[in-house]
Amino acid sequence: MTDALAPDFKTVPRGPDLAIKQNLLGLTRAVLREKLIEVGIAEKQAKMRASQLWQWIYQKGVQDFDGMTNLSKDFRETLEQHFTVERPEIVEKQISIDGARKYLLRIAGGHEVEAVYIPDENRGTLCISSQVGCTLNCTFCHTGTQKLVRNLTAGEVVAQVMVARDDLDEWHSDPGPQIGRRKITNVVLMGMGEPLYNYENVRDAMLIVMDNEGISISRRRITLSTSGVVPEIVRAGEEIGCLLAVSFHAPTNGVRDVLVPINKKWNIEVLLETLRNYPRLSNSERITFEYVMLKDVNDSDADARRLVKLISGIPAKINLIPFNPWPGSNYVRSDWDRIEAFAEIINEAGYASPVRTPRGEDIMAACGQLKSASQKIRKSSLKREKI
Ligand code: SAH
Ligand code: SF4
Repeated sequence: MTDALAPDFKTVPRGPDLAIKQNLLGLTRAVLREKLIEVGIAEKQAKMRASQLWQWIYQKGVQDFDGMTNLSKDFRETLEQHFTVERPEIVEKQISIDGARKYLLRIAGGHEVEAVYIPDENRGTLCISSQVGCTLNCTFCHTGTQKLVRNLTAGEVVAQVMVARDDLDEWHSDPGPQIGRRKITNVVLMGMGEPLYNYENVRDAMLIVMDNEGISISRRRITLSTSGVVPEIVRAGEEIGCLLAVSFHAPTNGVRDVLVPINKKWNIEVLLETLRNYPRLSNSERITFEYVMLKDVNDSDADARRLVKLISGIPAKINLIPFNPWPGSNYVRSDWDRIEAFAEIINEAGYASPVRTPRGEDIMAACGQLKSASQKIRKSSLKREKI
């Protein structure tokens, strides 16, 4: 999918005052090198300069060129003249009673996206968005009720991690691996949007998040969740190599057609065939099947049995997600004893079936509840004004 509405820096005139500076966040190494050469850095030096910049940007979190103290003054001035490393503005930050944090970020064009940080005992997971809205309309998902506004740029995807790291005070002066001290240990592409409909940008962003000179989070700690965009699943496996989660949600095409309408394009059989061929599939790199528990829709014992039969032979775990209701939703969360009975059938068939504890419910941060908040905020500020 093209990104027609994203800012196109190339077409912006470059006068000294009128210039919109190129943001370096999210540029691949190769593109960063080219940009440096364009502003006069010698070709022979560009690779090393790009490396230095990456360290300052992604390992130390420096937000202005002045702070890049091992670079010569001349070079810093050139950078300052042409580039920025600006992050999106945090419009609102909410902290749940369970410690989850939701960030509402304003990106170019005045659009808003959400990212959620979920702290756990041994890890901290950052859930990030890939699009403003979504073109798909899974019937149980709040994001699905909002039309796609635009794809995020690679920089905007990476910036969500940067902003959360800023807020969690995660930058340290000493470089190197920081797992153990890090607050964000895992990244999941489970926020707003379908990541595989913004494939190139998501790929470039994740390659930076994974890079040892970049944000340096292992590919095995990154999970991309897709509703089942079959052709791009293959590419993602080859080019990104992160873990995969699939929004499965129903064991028959009839029900999945309704819940996850992309099923009409790539049905269960086609999807499963693709998953069986996902690279590096093994017991240590299993596919996660996400399964939202909807009362009387997809939660019977027969559904559970059908599900395990379908996925037989695929190294997998099944993540049961109690439905998170949102204003105006037409579904009801399955009862807890139903969820437990469903989980037991899956367990007995030899699959792990963790039930995802809803987090950040008080701040509407749980799975599937993210929606561009501009409308919500406008409404709530109207209310405040009336009071
Ligand atoms: N578009 C991608 C990733 C974003 S959604 C995808 O569909 O996979 C992340 C997960 O939350 C998906 O499994 C999605 O189906 C699930 N989800 C969406 N709305 C939900 C809701 N209201 N309650 C529980 N899970 C939901
Ligand atoms: Fe889009 Fe995923 Fe929501 Fe479906 S579940 S509407 S693909 S964000």
